[in-house]
Order: sequence, then structure tokens, then C-alpha cells
Amino acid sequence: MQAALRRIPAVHRLLDHPALREAVTSHGRETVMEACRAATDQLRRRISDGQLPSEAVDRACAALPAEVLVVLDGWARPAYPEVVNATGVLIHTNLGRAPLPGDPPRSLASYLALELDIAGGGRGQRLAPLRGRLERLCGAESAVMVNNNAAALLLILSALARGREVIVSRGQLIEIGGSFRLPDVMAASGCRLVEVGCTNRTHLEDYQRAITGDTAAILSAHHSNFRIVGFTAEPPLSALAELAHSFGLPMIVDQGSGNLYDLRHWGLGDEPTVASLLAAGADVVCFSGDKLLGGPQAGIVVGRRQWVEPLGAHPLYRALRPDKTALVLMDQVLRAHQSGRLHEIPLYAMLAEPVEALARRARRIGRRLRAAGVPASGCATRAALGGGTTPEQTLASYGLSLGGGQRLFDALRLGEPPVIARIEDDAVVLDLRTVLPHQDRALEAAIAAAYRSSGGAQPAGR
Ligand SMILES: *Cc1c(COP(=O)(O)O)cnc(C)c1O
Repeated sequence: MQAALRRIPAVHRLLDHPALREAVTSHGRETVMEACRAATDQLRRRISDGQLPSEAVDRACAALPAEVLVVLDGWARPAYPEVVNATGVLIHTNLGRAPLPGDPPRSLASYLALELDIAGGGRGQRLAPLRGRLERLCGAESAVMVNNNAAALLLILSALARGREVIVSRGQLIEIGGSFRLPDVMAASGCRLVEVGCTNRTHLEDYQRAITGDTAAILSAHHSNFRIVGFTAEPPLSALAELAHSFGLPMIVDQGSGNLYDLRHWGLGDEPTVASLLAAGADVVCFSGDKLLGGPQAGIVVGRRQWVEPLGAHPLYRALRPDKTALVLMDQVLRAHQSGRLHEIPLYAMLAEPVEALARRARRIGRRLRAAGVPASGCATRAALGGGTTPEQTLASYGLSLGGGQRLFDALRLGEPPVIARIEDDAVVLDLRTVLPHQDRALEAAIAAAYRSSGGAQPAGR
């Protein structure tokens, strides 16, 4: 084995290989050396572990430059590659929630007036330009933006309730994917959670009885990703807000989705809008920027000046404030909302796509795939908003059924670009509502390649 190990070339000799000398110009000498070490170390391990018979060692050594190139290629690849979302879930947490408009503002690649008051020439506030937009869109007196909705809630509770009690219904102690648990965020903010009512039923009197001299606020959290059905009760927000106000307390609502519209317009169910919650008496409403607002990751707080304005002055705000990327992208999306140009926001463009248009796309892609020998057929599907919004509600959609099964499903994910499909009754189904129109050609090529690499016309389930 020692003799075999000695046949592994030294890194400096490997570097003399023409292909690797060329790689130095594009990857840099240090990185290529690091890759050489990684490749030779791996070969050394295979020999020491007895995985490689001694007669195969010379061939493995000869293959080292190619191995190094593979390592370098892997290191150079983007960590977050574009994928085709064919799941039909519009706000897909694993796939970056709401996709952003395809034309990011040019100011992102330049200097920008982030904290400059152009008119006066003095120092400006980075949030000031967005505040007005958010206030007008939500019908609010004041607005603040931070990194995400968890941060928004942390800031609200830290600023308004640290060391005091916040009353929440037991039916609303939610956990959202990605380790957001309401009781944990409350504990981290230093307030005391006072649970009232039961999982399925909480009454106004439950809240009323829990109010003490130590109470700082009443909090209502959107159920988000689940529904309680059957024998249920929750007091209306207006009654809860009235109760809070009679004790001089703020009514806080974690709305979650950031919905601005009547979703029945798109064939979905009733979801309260931010403005309707404020109109019903909520003093502070927080929500995510990358759910139904269709923008970048952000947490937005809107509401009454008395409660919201102090948030921007709290020391935690400095730690939670958004970066220029999020601010510029949010501004772009808010301007589209403001002027009713919803088609410029990918989430709403996808929502508005008529089923007939999706069926036409499916027919076009299906025709070309069948010509290439892939048995693809159009099929009606159901898409969903996702992201913890409107659970159990789906909207009519259309896509392609490929037959296939787990192997084709995996081959699609491992392809270039990765295609994330779903499996229904052992058949791979692609929902076109969440496939961005510019991805149709790439999708078609990826399906054909995955079909070939997974063994072609395998019966379902294999
Ligand atoms: C999504 C959601 C959150 C978490 O928001 P992030 O922006 O992911 O931090 C909190 N509360 C509710 C009700 C939500 O729907």
C-alpha cells in the first residue's frame, strides 16, 4: 500500500499538467492547488481504505487532472442556482418564496441615495422614502421595515412589552416552518406570554379576565398554515381591539401574509387584508415581504403612529434594519402595487394567468416533447398559494403528466436546470402555473434529458 501511495503525484507536479495550468488563469493558483490537494487526499483515502486495487492506481493517478477540474467546477458553481418550480405552489419556502421581478433596478449596481436627502443635501433616513408608500398602500399612519416578519414581531414585543404580559389565545400559538414558534419569539423578546382560552374556542371574556396591571398588549396571530374547523370560536378583531383600547393597550396582529387584495378575485378564499385589520381596530400589524406582497424577504410593521413610530428608534431596530438590496427591491414591488401594475410582480402575473393560457403552453411543450419521443400529455392540476397562506385552498391550473415515477422525478431535480415536480398517483406531474414563461424552453430540454437519463419509458413507479 505504501508503494501505491507513493505513486500519487505531488501537488506541484500535478499543477504542471496543461489543463491545470490553464485552470490557474481562470480560478487562481491558490484555489487550483487547494483542489489538487482535495483530489489527491481523496485518492490517498481510497487507497488506504483498500477501495482501490493496486493495479488500478496508475489509471486513477492519470485521471487526477480531470478530477481536479470537476472539483474546481463544483466550487465555481452558484450556490443558489435557478430552478424550475413545477410544483404549482406559488410561494414555495424551499424555493425562495415569491420570485422577484426580472429587471432589478439599476441603482443596485451603483451608488444610490440610501441615506441622502437629495432635496436638502443632508443625511436622510433609509426608511423614509418607503414609509409613505407603505402607509398609503395599507391605510396606516406609520410604517417600519425590518429583515423578516419574525424580526418584526421580535421588535414589536421588545419595544412595547418587554418585562410585561402579552395575552394570546391558545388557538393561535403557531409554529411556522423554519423554526418560527410564536412562544419562543415572545420569550426572546422578554415579554411574558399569557395564554387564554382553549385550542378550539377562545371568548372575549377569556381575554378580559386575563388583563392585569402588568398587561402590555393583546396579540392575535394569523393561523397561517392550518385551520381549526368544527366547534370553534374566536372573538372578532373589532371586539378584541375595543377591549384592548378600553384599557389603553395596543392590539397587535401578526397577519403573516401581507395580503392587500380580495383574493376571491383570483378564485381563492377570503383572507383579511392588512387594511381591513387596521380598519377593524388593530394598532400594530406585521407581515412578511416575500409572501403575498410578492417582494423580497422583509418584515413590515404598519399601524398607529403612537405604537409604530417608537419601533424605528429602538436599539434593536439598528440590528434588524433591512439592507439596500431589500429596500430597493421592495420599492420596486411597492411602486407596482401602488400603480396597479400587478403584472410586473411575478406572483400576481402567475396568479392571473388564465387556465386556458396554461393549457396552450402545455400543448406546445407536450407536442415538442412527444416529437422527441417523450410521452407527455396535458393534464388539469390544482395550484396553491403556499407559504402558510390560505391552507387547503387551491386554484385551477394546468400542466403536463409524464408518467415515469420516482426515478424521473429525481432525474428532473438533478438536471440542468433543476426541475422540481410533484408525484401524483405514481406519475410525475408538472404544474405550469409556477413555471415562469421564460423557462418553458429550458424546461422542455430538461424534461427530455431527464427522461433519457432515467431510462426512458419505464412503467410508473419504477
Ligand atoms: C410567515 C409567518 C411568519 C414568519 O415570517 P418570516 O418573514 O418568515 O419571518 C410569522 N407569522 C405568521 C403568521 C406568518 O405567516
